[in-house]
Amino acid sequence: MEQLIKSYNPATGDLEGTVNSTAIKDIPNIVKLAHKAQKLWKKLSVDERIVYLQKATQNALPHAEELSILLSKEMGKDIRRSSAEVNGVINGSVYIANEVKTAIKARKTGSGTIHYMPLGVVGIISPWNYPLAMFNNLMIPALIAGNAVILKPSEETPLIADKYISLLNKILPEHLVQVIHGRKEVGQALVESDIQMIAFTGSQTAGKDIMKRAASGIKRLVMELGGNDPMIVLPDANVPMAAQYAVAASLENSGQMCTSAERIYVHESIKDTFEKQVTQIAKDYPIGSWDNPYTRVFPIINEKQRQKIISHIKDAMDKGAKVLLGGIEQPKPFIKPTVLTNVTADALMEKEETFGPVVSISGYRSIEEAIEKANDSNYGLGASVFGQNRVEEVASQLEAGMVGINKMAGASPWVGAKQSGFGFHGSIDGHRQFAQVKVIN
Ligand code: NAD
Repeated sequence: MEQLIKSYNPATGDLEGTVNSTAIKDIPNIVKLAHKAQKLWKKLSVDERIVYLQKATQNALPHAEELSILLSKEMGKDIRRSSAEVNGVINGSVYIANEVKTAIKARKTGSGTIHYMPLGVVGIISPWNYPLAMFNNLMIPALIAGNAVILKPSEETPLIADKYISLLNKILPEHLVQVIHGRKEVGQALVESDIQMIAFTGSQTAGKDIMKRAASGIKRLVMELGGNDPMIVLPDANVPMAAQYAVAASLENSGQMCTSAERIYVHESIKDTFEKQVTQIAKDYPIGSWDNPYTRVFPIINEKQRQKIISHIKDAMDKGAKVLLGGIEQPKPFIKPTVLTNVTADALMEKEETFGPVVSISGYRSIEEAIEKANDSNYGLGASVFGQNRVEEVASQLEAGMVGINKMAGASPWVGAKQSGFGFHGSIDGHRQFAQVKVIN
């Protein structure tokens, strides 16, 4: 197995830095150290744990700018988005911790008292697209509930995870939060190790493998997996508003977002107008690297992913889609905003997650047809519906964990349906996942 994980700047191709891949043989000892730290941590009150966290995030705060630049250089997103993520993580952590405190407070029921006990050691395996926020949302409830954490960040973004956790670790007890690095083999070894829970955010393929490997230990699981979100535009929709949202929801984070609008179904009576407006708006999304203040679409994380997006565009075109903007001629390392219409049901982008800055449109004639198309997927993360008279009815029929009405999907809890996973980010229900329920009567 390779020793070094190299992290490249997606804009320049320059090597940003390296980390050592964790040797599989070292994982049992790392887990042992985590258990040792957890035994002491669980003895603290929830308030004492929150004070630790508060001090730890205060220690990171003066480094927010440095962290934002590192996040941009490593992941590619523009500095505005990186600083929103970094500041959101640093400033939001204590807020989340206080929510957790409420969620795990012991409560009386008719037959006894419910206590929320720590589970032990929680393994968090995270993706690269929001390289701090995705693990932090799971790490805070895990810690406040009294668990130790072993984090395996994505091999695409190891540096930012290392840097942020090292700042927290100046304050947190030793070995309470440990970072391990590597590709999927390291993640697999963590899943199979003596830990009690895996909180995973990533692809469906990895999620299925993790479920299998976690079975032998009946490990608790949170699975936040991929999406292929539909957006339905009803005939009585406010077209300018729907067009704005369609572009924003397809191009945000360069389309590298689990709740991107990946399939847009528009009623035939307004389709031409909608397409013209979408194309006009998408033209105003300049591509550029992280330090260009006008950038709205930044480089794709790596060339493999960029080629996948191009292959989805080509496949849709080969199957009859019409290109309204962009297409398959794409300047490396970017994908220019691309708008396709008349995308057919058999196109790859209808079936799979494209994860790129592509607005994919097709028409429908009846609302029942639109609902059927939207639900014809094994994914079920988010969905949205734009319109007036029948929006509530359509929303209630969409098979998704989160449905936005006249807005993008996404609230608290952050939750998927079908093969987009199970378990939550955020909310009372979400926080309680990190605790063992114990009833005393
Ligand atoms: P990925 O599944 O390839 O990798 C995610 C993490 O899992 C990485 O750290 C990777 O090393 C590790 N990993 C991969 N295979 C593994 C295995 N078999 N066992 C253990 N660990 C394994 O995903 P990615 O490319 O990093 O991220 C993009 C995916 O994440 C997309 O599908 C996106 O939709 C999804 N995502 C979902 C949410 C959500 O909230 N539902 C949020 C962000 C991203």
